[in-house]
Amino acid sequence: MASPFGAYTANAEGNRFISCDYWSGQMMLETWKELNSGKGPVHLKMYHLDDDTISEIERVLWANERPSRERFHEGRGEDYRTDGVEMNISEIGLCSGHSASGVWVNDKAETTVPGLYAAGDMASVPHNYMIGAFVSGRLSGINAMNYVEGLEHVEPDPEFLAAEKARIYAPLDRPDGVPHTQVEYKLRRYVNDYLQPPKSPTKMDIGLAAFERYYETLDLMGARDPHELMRCMEVHFIRDCAEMAARASLYRKESRWGLYHYRLDYPEKNNEEWFCHANLKKSETGEMEMFKRPVAPYIVEVNLQQEVYDVAVR
Ligand SMILES: Cc1cc2nc3c(=O)[nH]c(=O)nc-3n(C[C@H](O)[C@H](O)[C@H](O)COP(=O)(O)OP(=O)(O)OC[C@H]3O[C@@H](n4cnc5c(N)ncnc54)[C@H](O)[C@@H]3O)c2cc1C
Repeated sequence: MASPFGAYTANAEGNRFISCDYWSGQMMLETWKELNSGKGPVHLKMYHLDDDTISEIERVLWANERPSRERFHEGRGEDYRTDGVEMNISEIGLCSGHSASGVWVNDKAETTVPGLYAAGDMASVPHNYMIGAFVSGRLSGINAMNYVEGLEHVEPDPEFLAAEKARIYAPLDRPDGVPHTQVEYKLRRYVNDYLQPPKSPTKMDIGLAAFERYYETLDLMGARDPHELMRCMEVHFIRDCAEMAARASLYRKESRWGLYHYRLDYPEKNNEEWFCHANLKKSETGEMEMFKRPVAPYIVEVNLQQEVYDVAVR
């Protein structure tokens, strides 16, 4: 929120090095390059702005978006008028919110499972964020209502329900099992150590093998109450996402989206073969299977040859 007021990311010398501060893979790549040069660390620079502007940034930032920031800086004796806010690249996120990934939906928010709709961060909608969530949320709501209208009630299969309940509640039978915090931490370490860009195929293969093996570790998790049980189930979802990310990254043999998909063995973008979606599906035998899907034609004029913020990875 500070950017529109004139703040920007600067290197240790106080100089701007990013063509556009808005969140993107290109922005990440430029930051990563600067951090790996002798000019890091990098910081959010506001100290060149006038006092009124900084006061307005403080008012907005501390009152709603980041209420704890005021105390944080106070505790360190820092002031935006004299000090930059150091920034770094943290762990990678597997969710789809700021990316172009997620559950495959059409323009009615329908998934490939009849009657199942997806919207927002977990769906692959053009431009996620709030606007993607609002628009696809509305579409999925309206279309789901139309779908169920006049539909006969279907009695769920009791055997299926019983099996699912047994699977989900299993950690409650092991209250002294390995705590979900440890199992989640270890899994996230694998993600960061082996999937983090710049991506290497050998590391991703090692990561993939670890995620496949991880079912055994998941079975050791214990929960003492429903809250812990919910967290245990979340660790299952993180494992699924990690495996999907590893498979999709290994499949796409090119680099794209700046740092986000920078493969050391394929450092160039290859529109000829990879200007497409890389989709995952469940095969007949239950395995994850990759396939390519064409990108729908743009409905507005876009010059694909001229991507303004495209930065060479090297
Ligand atoms: C730090 C940060 C800054 C951002 N800044 C901006 C910005 O400036 N502008 C912008 O447009 N977007 C921004 N975004 C993105 C935006 O916040 C998201 O795209 C948007 O909130 C997605 O909405 P959603 O409803 O799809 O998902 P969410 O808001 O994540 O809602 C999903 C809900 O489902 C709940 N849930 C999960 N699992 C279960 C379960 N098993 N049972 C029941 N409930 C469950 C969760 O608790 C959550 O409340 C930002 C995101 C982050 C993380």
